[in-house]
Amino acid sequence: MPTETFPSTAVPATSDEKHVIDLVDELLSDLPPASTDPVAFLGAQYDRGLAWVHFPVGHGGLGLSPKYQKIINERVFAAGGPNAYFRNPIGYGMCGPTVVEWGSEEQKRRYLRPLFTGEEVWCQLFSEPGSGSDFAGLSGKAVRDGDEWLVNSQKVWTTLAHVSKFGLLVVRTDPEAVKHAGLTAMVVDMHAPGVEVRPLRQMTGEAEFNEVFFTDARVPFAETLGKPGDGWRVSLTTLMNERVAIGGMIPPKASGPIAEALRLWSKLPAQERSSATREELMQLYIRAEVLRLTNIRAGQMRKAGVPGPEGSIGKMASADLNKDTYAFCMHLMGANGMLYGDYALTRPRTAMGPVDALQKAFLRSRANSIEGGTSEVMRNILGERVLGLPGDVRVDRDRPWSEVPRN
Ligand SMILES: Cc1cc2nc3c(=O)[nH]c(=O)nc-3n(C[C@H](O)[C@H](O)[C@H](O)COP(=O)(O)OP(=O)(O)OC[C@H]3O[C@@H](n4cnc5c(N)ncnc54)[C@H](O)[C@@H]3O)c2cc1C
Repeated sequence: MPTETFPSTAVPATSDEKHVIDLVDELLSDLPPASTDPVAFLGAQYDRGLAWVHFPVGHGGLGLSPKYQKIINERVFAAGGPNAYFRNPIGYGMCGPTVVEWGSEEQKRRYLRPLFTGEEVWCQLFSEPGSGSDFAGLSGKAVRDGDEWLVNSQKVWTTLAHVSKFGLLVVRTDPEAVKHAGLTAMVVDMHAPGVEVRPLRQMTGEAEFNEVFFTDARVPFAETLGKPGDGWRVSLTTLMNERVAIGGMIPPKASGPIAEALRLWSKLPAQERSSATREELMQLYIRAEVLRLTNIRAGQMRKAGVPGPEGSIGKMASADLNKDTYAFCMHLMGANGMLYGDYALTRPRTAMGPVDALQKAFLRSRANSIEGGTSEVMRNILGERVLGLPGDVRVDRDRPWSEVPRN
């Protein structure tokens, strides 16, 4: 649930806005966050349509414009209320919007509420060892067996699979179709027989992601999202939401990584504040501000119903900026930048929480230009769709997946 900060306007509150504000104030007064269990609070927030305000009534929303979610979030957080996004980042940011768009009524009723409260954490089972950027070429398969799918697949990089109750799985169900057409999406129970989760350790010492093996795992056919063969379109819903969740945040001015750099700089002894370092700091500051303004523009375009290329720009620019800013922090810290508390293997319960040390933030930031689509792939998208440059070579697009040569 990233928060968006827009320039204030003098426009009076609309009746929808007033209605939303009244509902939030009622929620906060009926269930004061300080004395209410977070799950109970979030459950009530869902029941009153304040979870995803643009979702349909009865499924956590009020069928209103998504712009009102910002008002809700700001009021809830200011009152010390819980943050559904931090409790279940992939569930709230990506799987919920996918279930509401593609799920049956039964699936929406069953999954959305506990997903929002964080009682049931979700993970995204897309990437495979041989298919990351070219995710549509994946080879994990499911075969229909009566009322079930029989799944055999290996997934990788699955963030938070170790704490997840459900996963959003995409597998190949028709190898004779062209690659994008042969995929199917389904909801899997991560504790079902035949599903095995193994930790993958990162250079921070943590294992926030995993490998997941499916060996003759059975998934009820009723858990298909959309129809068989819709998997690519379903996953586009997930990936669009992922890009915005990762790169589209609009933090307050001069906050986040650039605030860390400014803090370090201000503590440096005067003789260490060289003009070259100051110049570098200013460049980073300008990039942070340009990104913030670009994301504000992207947010306004989305609200107006014309999402532009800013989603990919924001994802790419925030990845590079995070990496460069934390590298700069390490430079300012000198030899202290090499000190690292503890490489013990830990299994975090969230992937989006605050990092406790700058050295760790620096190491974790290296993944920013890979996760959610690499910066090279973002450049391809921008080159082709925005600048109109010649397309990437795609020799497999019109051939049945089974006939495409692969290792
Ligand atoms: C921290 C983290 C968390 C993640 N969490 C999840 C998750 O929860 N669920 C999930 O399904 N996946 C997850 N991923 C996987 C992520 O989506 C993939 O790593 C990413 O899409 C890249 O795929 P790949 O690693 O297979 O690299 P590859 O696709 O093999 O790419 C290798 C290199 O080749 C470049 N490259 C590839 N194709 C092109 C091209 N056409 N043009 C130019 N360059 C190209 C890439 O940019 C990269 O540098 C996560 C990754 C990270 C780092």
